[in-house]
Amino acid sequence: MIFYNPAGAPELGCEHCGCRWYDRMNNACYECGAEVTPQMLAEYEQALKDFLARQQAPG
Ligand SMILES: [Zn+2]
Repeated sequence: MIFYNPAGAPELGCEHCGCRWYDRMNNACYECGAEVTPQMLAEYEQALKDFLARQQAPG
């Protein structure tokens, strides 16, 4: 699950409990322990790239 903060930047969230607190050391949710899948990470990285591209776009 990908959230967007008020600035429009993507944040990775848990698909199981909906929280945003991931333990990046273990690639798992702090709340419920659900694993972050490679697909979720790929989606997040793509969303982040899109966000940065928008930030850098002129106008
Ligand atoms: Zn969770």
